[in-house]
Amino acid sequence: MNKKCPKCNSLQTKKDWARNWKQSYKCKICKHIFQNKTRVKILTNNKIYNLYVHWKQTYEELWEKYSLTWRTIKKKIDSVEFKKKKYFLEVQYW
Ligand SMILES: [Zn+2]
Repeated sequence: MNKKCPKCNSLQTKKDWARNWKQSYKCKICKHIFQNKTRVKILTNNKIYNLYVHWKQTYEELWEKYSLTWRTIKKKIDSVEFKKKKYFLEVQYW
């Protein structure tokens, strides 16, 4: 199953592992190199948070695995923590 080239929509692509740890694809037609972003897209804030809290993944592991920056990971984790805190406070209040 080949990935579609985002530039020319050709299916003439091949896996290209030369680009360090990232899973990349190279288009045989226009030579465009792109990455498989699917996994990153489906990664929600909650998933990041769970990985961090329950699976004890470090920021380094998360950013290498999902090619996110430290800032992005921090933001995602903070946003979930903020929601949880808010919920907790609301529950306490009632
Ligand atoms: Zn192409």
